[in-house]
Amino acid sequence: MFRKPLTRHVLCMSAGALLSVLLCLAFGAWSVQRDRAEQAGELADSYVNLARRITAEAVEALAVIQATPTDCGPQEIAHLRALVLNGRFIKAAARLDNGQIVCSSITGRVDPPAPPPRADLTGEGGRRVSFNVPELGAPGSRSMVLREGDAMVSIHARTFIELADPRLDFALIAKEGEMSRVLYTNTSALQGLERVAGTEGALNFNGRRYEVRCLQAYTGCIVAALRPLQSLWSSSVMLEMGAFGVLLGMTGGFAVSALLGRSRSLSRQLLLAMRSGELRLVYQPIVRLSDRRRVGAEALLRWTDVTGKPVSPDAFISEAERNGMIGQVTRFVISRVLEDLGDGLRRRPDFQVTVNVSADDLMDSSFLPFLSARLQAARLQACSIGLELTERTTANSRELSRAIARVREAGHKVYIDDFGTDYSSLSYLSRLRVDAIKINRTFMQALHDQSDQDTIAPQIVVMAEVLGLTMVVEGIEEEQQATYFHTLAPDALAQGWLFSKPVEAAHLFS
Ligand code: C2E
Ligand code: CA
Repeated sequence: MFRKPLTRHVLCMSAGALLSVLLCLAFGAWSVQRDRAEQAGELADSYVNLARRITAEAVEALAVIQATPTDCGPQEIAHLRALVLNGRFIKAAARLDNGQIVCSSITGRVDPPAPPPRADLTGEGGRRVSFNVPELGAPGSRSMVLREGDAMVSIHARTFIELADPRLDFALIAKEGEMSRVLYTNTSALQGLERVAGTEGALNFNGRRYEVRCLQAYTGCIVAALRPLQSLWSSSVMLEMGAFGVLLGMTGGFAVSALLGRSRSLSRQLLLAMRSGELRLVYQPIVRLSDRRRVGAEALLRWTDVTGKPVSPDAFISEAERNGMIGQVTRFVISRVLEDLGDGLRRRPDFQVTVNVSADDLMDSSFLPFLSARLQAARLQACSIGLELTERTTANSRELSRAIARVREAGHKVYIDDFGTDYSSLSYLSRLRVDAIKINRTFMQALHDQSDQDTIAPQIVVMAEVLGLTMVVEGIEEEQQATYFHTLAPDALAQGWLFSKPVEAAHLFS
């Protein structure tokens, strides 16, 4: 898979672009809908403000009519006409007497007096409101009529309808308590709207969201939404989000591809290094502190890359652990140890080479059969190879305890590596049941830096004795450290530059 970096880049960038375009478009669609709801709300608000101005003009006219003499003479009729002429929205004004229209701005004196239109509802201040009233002298036209006391004015229904912005699908509604009546709508989608939940805000009707704004004076409301887009794609936001998604996705895809490539190339290089001989082993002698005789050695990997630069084992080992390659590395080490040291180990059956292993190695069911087969082929006993388990990998696990028990039964000694850095507790050690601990070299630094009498080294020595564990002290660089530990634990083993740095196989037994 992804043999060529170019193919990997292209695939990662395309996948990234696709994913990111989908996400950006989803976000774009959501944000377009949100903006459209906001815009519809603003248009509905401005509608209500205009309607309020019309209402104010009508209410003022009603007050003026009521304040003038009531004889319906030419002067009053002229006055009614002047009101209409001077008004912006009022189309007619009339006077009532005993509940009957006696004169109006359109017809002059009404003889015999005519009944006013039936009130549909009573609004604020006791004003009676009638909707859809046929207009006097203008057949086919409808108006809204307001009546207060003996005064009456009418406004073209058209005025209210034309006020609404042409971008809206809307309905004008008269509210009567919980129920509402659609006075006018420009869309079939809002027909049958009988109940406006609450007063203001938003309303979901037939699967669509509408903004609701009400005019308290007439208990009238506008219910509105922007007309549906022909297509969401016609929105510039969607185009911008799409383009942004492609760019973002391709950049992200490229970054992922580059990271993948980097980590894959490190794994590939490690594989190549095993085959080509760039990866080799050195052996650091382990001595008995009492007589400083070499009783064993630790196998340590060395990698010198093609440019001749050494690569730190700490770096490539943790990379191999992350990549699931550690098993291959450990098998490489075991095979190489037996190749390098087979003769020497056959001559010295008391000499033990320890190999660093991970918990995953031990729990791999094919690991022990592999190790045993290799030892058998090399005509060596299991005790020739010890296993160092790094403490950080020895998280409490039943499976791991069983795996340790299996390799010990087969005759291998198990060491807890870097003891004293983490998790070191007595109960932890007794649960895992191992043969030895390797005391981390940071203890030597503590001794060196502060001749620290408070070091916990004595407690560790006592604990190891109680549990019957062999102790290997790592990182001894100075005579004084060797003396200190020899006094504390005469049977301890030791490893460090004082005795020897890691050496080539050829120099281990010489
Ligand atoms: P480690 O297992 O704790 O190995 C001991 C490290 O201490 C080695 O570093 C060794 O060179 C260094 N050392 C030994 N004596 C002294 C001393 O007196 N002073 C100082 N300052 N250092 C000393 P190295 O070889 O760099 O290895 C680092 C780590 O890499 C090892 O730590 C081990 O965790 C890992 N490693 C090395 N080889 C292998 C391997 O074959 N398999 C696995 N799984 N891990 C390995
Ligand atoms: Ca080690």
